[in-house]
This record gives sequence, structure tokens and C-alpha cells, in this order.
Amino acid sequence: MRIHHLNCGSFCPHGARLINGEGGLLERGRIVCHCLAIETADGLVLVDTGFGTEDARNPRQLGSMFRALMNPRPEIATTAIEQIEALGFAPGDVRHIVTTHLDLDHAGGLPDFPDAEVHLLATELAEALNPHLNERLRYIGGAHWRHDPNWVEHGTGGDDWFGFESVRILPGIDAEILLVPLLGHSRGHTGVAVKTADGWLLHCGDAYFNHGELSTPPTCPPVLRFFQNLTASDNKARKRNQERLRELAARHGDEITMLCAHDPHELEREHAKSSAATAT
Ligand SMILES: [Zn+2]
Repeated sequence: MRIHHLNCGSFCPHGARLINGEGGLLERGRIVCHCLAIETADGLVLVDTGFGTEDARNPRQLGSMFRALMNPRPEIATTAIEQIEALGFAPGDVRHIVTTHLDLDHAGGLPDFPDAEVHLLATELAEALNPHLNERLRYIGGAHWRHDPNWVEHGTGGDDWFGFESVRILPGIDAEILLVPLLGHSRGHTGVAVKTADGWLLHCGDAYFNHGELSTPPTCPPVLRFFQNLTASDNKARKRNQERLRELAARHGDEITMLCAHDPHELEREHAKSSAATAT
């Protein structure tokens, strides 16, 4: 089973040092949208979609406040659909999309794959379709699901996975892909665990933003810490789940490769591993 690590969009807000922990205060920081494209016997499975074609054509739909704060750079060249075609696949090969949550920087590519099944936690879909007053901005009026996707809702509960609950999706195919609920950033936020030949890969979505947050004691550049507190639906749950991820990293770091959606270092680390594997 082959996994491609894609960057499906970038943000370049001011203050590199406060965002990436390095670089100048006046330099622009770098935040990526780390998505996965998993080759399975039943076609491609995408984990998150970053920004999509319509975001690149009409960035205004992302909202003026988000654009002013985060300086997103949606581009056609970095959409999942373009990168998948560059890898030699057709858009129709994407049979399933698994979303960690439906924030605009994770769900932007949904309209580019209207026939795919979109897997997510039921609580996230309920909130996105009928948001609380304080959550309306994050779902941008439903711009990313006007095409009425083939939603596949999953409940919580399920089996134990390293002390976390987990829900196996796509039981009919060879790939073992699990939702690992990590509520807090949004009401129905989930991690996605994928079994690989080298152990497990856990895409943690926005459960943390910087690799330093998995260390004990954790570190995080101040703007990222502020942003996470600001955007959490349930900040207590978010912090508790981040603590559990730190414990997971400490105890099982040799069996589980963990990554989040927005850390450029983790994306480069995975690209370096892929290049080394191709060279041997
Ligand atoms: Zn995000």
C-alpha cells in the first residue's frame, strides 16, 4: 500500500518566528495543509483535501477575516485534484475521502471529487450543516458542500486502539483505516490512523499544530498556541486530547508515526522518507 504525502495549500501569515519558531519577525511564516493519498485495491483514499479549485479561483469565499489573519494561498497547482492527476490517476479514482473535520482548509477539495464517499464523524457533519452561532464563520456558509456530497457518517465508540477509541471504516477493502476521535478543535474532530507495512500512521488533523507539542514538556510557537486556543470549540477537550497524544508519542513513538495537518517540518520529514525509499 503506497501513501503519498501532499501539501494541498499554504498559509503565509506574518511573523515567521512566532509561527514556525524560526526566522525573522517580519518574515512570513509557513503553514501547510498536509493531506494523504492512499493507494488501495478499491481506488484512492484521500485524508483531508486542503483548498480546492474553487478556493483558488475565488479566494473571497474563504472570508475576509480568515484571509486577513492567515493569508491563505490557495492555488490550482496545489489542489489535490491537480496533484493526483500529476501522479497519473484520474479524479474518479478517488473513491473515498476521510476528513478530520470540515474547516475550510480541510474540506476545500470536496467539490473537486463529487462522486467520492466522504467519511467523517456524525457530530462534525451535524455541526457543519447547522452550526452554533459562534461556529458559523468556520464553515463559510457551506460553500464546500453545496454539491451535496455522499456523506458517510460514523459514530464514536468502537474498538480500543492504543488506549483510544477507534472506528474502522471501509471494512470491505484491504486498507485498515480507522477514525480516532480527537474532539476539541471542532466538535466532531477526528484523527485518522492508517496501518502501513512499517507500523501505524496517525494523521492528527488539527489536534496539534507543531511537532514540539508532542514532546514532553511540550513547546509551541506563541502565535500557533494563541490560534489553537482561539479556534477550539471545546478547549478543555482539545488540551486533554493533546496530552493523550503526547503520552502516545512517548509510549508508542516507535510503532506510530504521528503527523498533523499544518506543520511543514513533518511534511518534509515524510517527503524525505519517501525519497529515501524510492532511492533504495
Ligand atoms: Zn486546519
